Amino acid sequence: MAIVPESAPLSLTRSVPEFDAVVIGAGFSGMYMLHRLRDMLGLSVRVYEDGDDVGGTWYWNRYPGARCDSESYIYCYTFDRQLLQEWQWSERYPEQPEILRYLNHVADRFDLRRDIQFSTRVTAAAFDEETNRWQVRTSLGEVVSARYLIAAVGTLSKANLPKFRGLETFRGKWYHTNQWPQGGVDFTAKRVAVVGTGATAVQVIPEVSQQAKQLTVFQRTPAFCVPARNGKVDPEVVKARKADYDGIVERIRNSQFGHEIYFIEKSALDDSPEERQREFDKRWDAGGFAFWIGNYQDMLFNQEANDLCADYLKRKIRATVNDPVVAEKLIPKTYPYGTKRQPLDTNYFETFNKANVLLVDAADAPIEEITPKGIRAGGEEYEFDIIIFATGFDALTGPLTSIDLRGRAGKSLSEKWADGPHTYLGLAVTGFPNLFMITGPGSPSVMSNMPVSIEQHVEWISDCVNYMLKHNLTVIEATPAAEAEWTFHVAEVADATLMTRANSWYMGANMPGKPRVFMAYLGGVGVYRQKCDEVAAHGYKGFALGGTAQSGNGR
Ligand code: NAP
Repeated sequence: MAIVPESAPLSLTRSVPEFDAVVIGAGFSGMYMLHRLRDMLGLSVRVYEDGDDVGGTWYWNRYPGARCDSESYIYCYTFDRQLLQEWQWSERYPEQPEILRYLNHVADRFDLRRDIQFSTRVTAAAFDEETNRWQVRTSLGEVVSARYLIAAVGTLSKANLPKFRGLETFRGKWYHTNQWPQGGVDFTAKRVAVVGTGATAVQVIPEVSQQAKQLTVFQRTPAFCVPARNGKVDPEVVKARKADYDGIVERIRNSQFGHEIYFIEKSALDDSPEERQREFDKRWDAGGFAFWIGNYQDMLFNQEANDLCADYLKRKIRATVNDPVVAEKLIPKTYPYGTKRQPLDTNYFETFNKANVLLVDAADAPIEEITPKGIRAGGEEYEFDIIIFATGFDALTGPLTSIDLRGRAGKSLSEKWADGPHTYLGLAVTGFPNLFMITGPGSPSVMSNMPVSIEQHVEWISDCVNYMLKHNLTVIEATPAAEAEWTFHVAEVADATLMTRANSWYMGANMPGKPRVFMAYLGGVGVYRQKCDEVAAHGYKGFALGGTAQSGNGR
């Protein structure tokens, strides 16, 4: 291991271990990237992972109620048909321990761990323009060099802990849902606060309410929740799906969002109120994302259509919550339905009927400070033994800019993205040659069922690396024109929808000072895949390719 002082400029650090590729992160994306590059292309690969085992998101998010909101039969790798046949999911929506078991199984099956260095964070990386290689520094002080640097850092991996005054004075225990203790937390006889009401809190709140003596929820913006309707899947359905995986894979890869869920191909305004009610009921009863991404096709484009969907959900909240004052507080009023990520719930609104659950409107009475005894909001002090921050993430860009990534001329990614992410296809960044991002900003990413987008990116990147090897090339970089055109296109597609109207993390609006930019590509998983394939088919159109293996220090 080459240990290099933190002060040494990375670009001047030579004589260090060399790899063909360094992959940052050993979640869904980093694991598959390793398999592709190592086992299919025969490259030398080092994966660095902050956690002490594989799993990424599913390693860190161990909070009570943590469960995937995509259906299990498609929330998995599809690249190995045998694996698809062998693995048995126990429920419609897999819970965190089960997904972690699955990822451990994959790590064993493909012998991945031997090339993953755990408990090691990549802290910095700099592109060396002389050798066309990345110099990578880790939290252990190790420096290595690699031709390709692949950020498999996840989209929701940098926790957002708001800077609440006085947090250090709190005498109880506090946790962020993203950094949950391995052994769990016992809430028995405890007074517990949950800050936040996003998709995570919606899973946490009903669970904690069952154990805690008193649960107080601090809500700044209410959520439009839809029931998950989790449960066992009929064995006949499981059998039929196993028999049809080729069809399923084909359909999800060419779909809008990576699910087998499709919009109703007409306007919500074209149906009579009775027909609309039937369509809404069908989706409400089906549970899951059907109400969100399987609704009328103009729901995310037309405010009038959107209002019809929102009104249906508001009626459901009023019908579920006994206290009309509490119900009104729980009804979203400040953004169109579906423009924030759809939380899926199990007894979320019902939880507010319980005697031990209190809702505090943190929009009217913002959290002022954390005190030694609890939380002061709206001039009142609430006392707690435990505070849970379900306050989300610095999404998409955060995990990347928190690494000191420096491209040509030492320019940092944070500087480059000061006014929002600029990328080509969400895969590459001009000025950062040989860097690839898996599900980066500007790709469908978080607006899709993640494994579908992850597999597409991993396969595209490994095909690209293979092309480079075959053509004896050592450097690939998005051209400024291609990056500008793509970044413009991502924005124009988002601007055509209602999605830009919410203060969502998709918009960076949850982070004070973060530029307000819709960060995912909304053109759809299928359309996007075609565009990426066309780029590859045209010799990586929009990229400048160069160098030779001789000039560029081996492969
Ligand atoms: P989130 O959606 O960003 O929600 C964070 C919550 O914290 C919001 O209610 C936010 O209020 C609140 N908050 C933030 N700062 C606050 C402050 N200073 N004072 C009061 N409240 C504050 O984060 P999340 O719930 O962790 O979900 C993030 C994403 O993770 C989801 O959208 C989803 O994509 C993913 N996720 C997936 C699953 C799954 O599939 N199993 C489960 C959970 C999460 P505002 O809305 O006012 O900002």
